[in-house]
Amino acid sequence: MTSDQLLTAPATALPALRGAVAGLPSYVPGRRSAGLDIAALASNESHYAPLPAAAAAVTEAAGTMNRYPDSAAVELRERLARHLGVTAGEIAVGPGSVGVLQQIITGLCDAGDEVIFAWRSFEAYPILVELAGARPVRIPLDDAEGHDLEAMAAAVTDRTKVILLCTPNNPTGVPISHERIEAFLRSVRSDILVVVDEAYVEYAEAGSGPDSLALYRQYPNVCILRTFSKAYGLAGLRVGYAVAAPAIAEGLRRTALPFSVSALAQKAAIASLAAGDEMESRVAAVKQERARMAAELAAQGWKLQPSQGNFLWIRADDTLREALVEAFDRADILVRGYQGDGVRITVADPAANDRVLRLLAAHAG
Ligand SMILES: *Cc1c(COP(=O)(O)O)cnc(C)c1O
Repeated sequence: MTSDQLLTAPATALPALRGAVAGLPSYVPGRRSAGLDIAALASNESHYAPLPAAAAAVTEAAGTMNRYPDSAAVELRERLARHLGVTAGEIAVGPGSVGVLQQIITGLCDAGDEVIFAWRSFEAYPILVELAGARPVRIPLDDAEGHDLEAMAAAVTDRTKVILLCTPNNPTGVPISHERIEAFLRSVRSDILVVVDEAYVEYAEAGSGPDSLALYRQYPNVCILRTFSKAYGLAGLRVGYAVAAPAIAEGLRRTALPFSVSALAQKAAIASLAAGDEMESRVAAVKQERARMAAELAAQGWKLQPSQGNFLWIRADDTLREALVEAFDRADILVRGYQGDGVRITVADPAANDRVLRLLAAHAG
């Protein structure tokens, strides 16, 4: 091609993004906690400073960041294996459990394959599915804000590759009982991967949700998804993991972006596992606050489903949702509003929770 031809080439067209990408929502950055008194209750993070052992491990590992991390995360996977009573071969790690979920979807779904999940649930689900060229199948929650497992089972087709179960569900806080998941597993084909997303499992009352490891041992098409982002307080470091049948876990490790879990994240996760007691006492304090808020809100006249997560869910039409989100915003309290569905508020320290209770008292009834 001559330089003349280059000059006459059409100059207006830019390279086109795939349709699936053009349809994705843009990330809207939340207000940052710049002010002194902003309560960050929009992302279900831990309000505690990192566990001291995790912070120390990161400080120590900082001196090695000129090196790539262990891409196989051998030590972390071995510690997790011991912690859970499985083998390291049954574990795959990723940059947050969202990262692992992306490995799951891209590892199992061809274009046009279907992924079933409840709605409303975690917002990353439809994004990851569409990005993979697969088809999201959303099944409305039942009247008690829980998964409608019968409708989910009925939605299975021969294109179904993955089913996502979120327990306790984000954003509604409602768990799925062991018995119901077991009945569900009996009814779905064993060549469908059933992912049990337990991002908030540490906050759930014992017995409210499934014994997911027992289900996994009985049904090898179960994949457990967990994270260090929530109760362990490592949201900013990006590390989560899956427990799955060895062949599946091996496939997830192969689909991972190389070196996506930093050495800092791996060391912090290892240190966090060893500091489980400290994590649990923090979780106990959050659960106590959750109970206090639930009782107070019930007394105010709010009718909420009990939450098993570190957050509360207020079902609201768009008029109420907009009024609440605006009032919270004016009060420097950051919460999550969901169009058409409601408002989710993270449970944090007593002072922040008191601000939430005072604000909601003015909107009750
Ligand atoms: C927060 C959350 C995650 C975890 O995200 P990370 O990528 O591990 O930070 C996964 N699933 C649900 C339902 C969540 O709410």
